[in-house]
Amino acid sequence: MNIIFFGPPAAGKGTQAKIIQDKYGLQQISTGDMLREEAASGSTLGKKAQEIMDMGLLVSDEVIIEMIAKRIDSPDCAKGVIFDGFPRTLAQAQALDKMLAARGKAIDIIMELDVDQDKLVQRREKRQQEEGRSDDNADAFKKRLQQYNDYAAVVLPYYKNKGAVPKIDGNKNVEQVTDQIEVILRGKDSAPRAFCCGV
Ligand code: ADP
Repeated sequence: MNIIFFGPPAAGKGTQAKIIQDKYGLQQISTGDMLREEAASGSTLGKKAQEIMDMGLLVSDEVIIEMIAKRIDSPDCAKGVIFDGFPRTLAQAQALDKMLAARGKAIDIIMELDVDQDKLVQRREKRQQEEGRSDDNADAFKKRLQQYNDYAAVVLPYYKNKGAVPKIDGNKNVEQVTDQIEVILRGKDSAPRAFCCGV
């Protein structure tokens, strides 16, 4: 099963992706984490990406798509992937569809984690204190929120055009959010069986 967790910065996508990864044997792919690893390696590409991240802007589609293309054929992705923070543009969404189709796969479900703006700001402050991410400063975060609103207005309709995009209330606590996600995953899992048996 291939899943997308879509939602604003600090919505809890990474937290939930890790829980679902461990419970279902799927592989989380976080483009943000991959970029931070690249930056930590000290490569030229990583340094460039860090500068862009610190401004709250998006890294180029070319870099992101190439990163994903290299990642999805790893053996740990065989059972399925949870995309976290990707796709963020129409070009990325279309490239992902193509890559998956070429492998006889598709996105099975995309969920939107919905969190109130004031909660996001609180979580941003907490995360900055705990993790010290340089792109979690108030200015960069504000920019990232703006960017999110812009790309969500393009990427969500792309997927809504193909099918339902269930909304998860991400304001709830971690366990309650996981419960909502699992209800959707169970529904998705049983749908083909119900169909095949003519129920
Ligand atoms: P958050 O979900 O809290 O915004 P991420 O770790 O997912 O944090 O992303 C951090 C930064 O990495 C983004 O602000 C952006 O600069 C860059 N980034 C991550 N994923 C993508 C992507 N798919 N396309 C472009 N830039 C990305």
